[in-house]
Amino acid sequence: MTIETLALVSDYLRADGAIVVENPATGAVLGRIASHDADAVSAIIDKADAARIAWAQHSAQARSNLLRAWHGLILAHADDLARIITLESGKPLAEAKGEVAYGASYVEWFAEEGKRAYGETIPGFSPRSRILTIRQPIGTCAAITPWNFPLAMITRKVAPALAAGCSIVVKPAEATPLTALALEKLAHEAGIPADLFRVTATKSSSAIGALFCTHPLVRKLSFTGSTRVGQILMAQAAQQVTRLSLELGGNAPFIVFDDADLDAAVEGVLASKYRNAGQTCVCANRLLVQDGVHDAFVARLVARVGQLRMGDGMADGTTLGPLIDAREAARVAALVEDARTAGCAIKIGGTGSDGAFHPATIMTGVTQDMPIAQDEIFGPVAPVIRFTDEADAIRIANDTIYGLAAYLYSRDIGRVWRVMEALEYGMVAVNEGILSTETAPFGGVKQSGMGREGSSHGLADYMEIKYALMGGM
Ligand code: ADP
Repeated sequence: MTIETLALVSDYLRADGAIVVENPATGAVLGRIASHDADAVSAIIDKADAARIAWAQHSAQARSNLLRAWHGLILAHADDLARIITLESGKPLAEAKGEVAYGASYVEWFAEEGKRAYGETIPGFSPRSRILTIRQPIGTCAAITPWNFPLAMITRKVAPALAAGCSIVVKPAEATPLTALALEKLAHEAGIPADLFRVTATKSSSAIGALFCTHPLVRKLSFTGSTRVGQILMAQAAQQVTRLSLELGGNAPFIVFDDADLDAAVEGVLASKYRNAGQTCVCANRLLVQDGVHDAFVARLVARVGQLRMGDGMADGTTLGPLIDAREAARVAALVEDARTAGCAIKIGGTGSDGAFHPATIMTGVTQDMPIAQDEIFGPVAPVIRFTDEADAIRIANDTIYGLAAYLYSRDIGRVWRVMEALEYGMVAVNEGILSTETAPFGGVKQSGMGREGSSHGLADYMEIKYALMGGM
């Protein structure tokens, strides 16, 4: 079964490859691929820069046609891509299929949006002149992507880059390079010039990250990953004032007010907290629940979480897969143990991890000063913090270095507006547990990063504005 599923990437498999890709659910080796060193990546950047010159001369429509062809091939291979995602990342197959559809939607969206990179005309300061602006591709771009969405985190960088007229070199996460390579193969099959979009899997992440920031031809770096690595890249990028888009860590509050629809809020937690075993940067990290509904909400949530089925993502009925590896599972278990020692109650689940698996867990009695409330958990553990009133909720919610996504459940329209505006986050979902879509600007504030992906803003992040003064009339 594995051989057949990996047919899409068979060209890349090497018996002596330095990168060993494993299935986190079973520990089985899926395949080995070559690791690119800095010299190899540097040569790929040079070629990407040569390729973008011709690409930028294409009409937006011509670029759109090739992106559409890529989109069609991604959908045509959706089942194979989903299986590769599940095998290398562990997420349940149904979620992997969802990721393929979601990731493909960015390609379609930017195929269209690339045709709308409008400039402006601005009244001049004298009768003899006019002011206009045009938007031009930034140039050669680089991207570094994480393992939690091995496909979608790539399409939402590559599609806008190509639509804007840029070239792009992508370094995928060490754990999930096969999905990235499959995407590259399909893009080239669709007719996108090979040098324009290249995947450079490597074991030397930090060396390649430094190269992306210091290679004179790289004009922009887009990174999705931890705040720690984002800070390193930002410091390195200062040398050449390389443009940056950073999608970093989060610590999303999920606020349930007394007047919330509790069943809807429970389903929202399931989608937001336990999807991908809690390994998304917009995952609800802390559940803030108002006094009046605290016990009822926790009881309903415990009952619902009890229905999750942990197992191999390839198995029928699995709704909670493993974490990306055993080290991550042990890290999450240590956070739970720390909170338990501090007096928090475990309502379901627990501190035990088994290999890469960690059970779905709910803890009550958590306070905002605890590591489990301050750190990004990145696992299927929901700490519940009790609050008294609106001001209390806003204070706790904003008491973090992060500012990516926030969720709130209330039926009071005045409260919804007040709290939505007061939350220091780049994205707020009201009465919904999932907010990512290609049509909306995704991004954070504070130490969650800068720049936006998706929507028209996602295209603008790969373009420069040129102001032209047309005088001498
Ligand atoms: P996560 O905690 O989600 O794994 P990381 O920030 O560690 O987040 O990883 C995200 C991506 O950053 C991966 O592709 C990883 O290989 C890469 N990476 C890790 N360390 C560095 C570094 N020092 N420089 C550049 N990229 C790095």
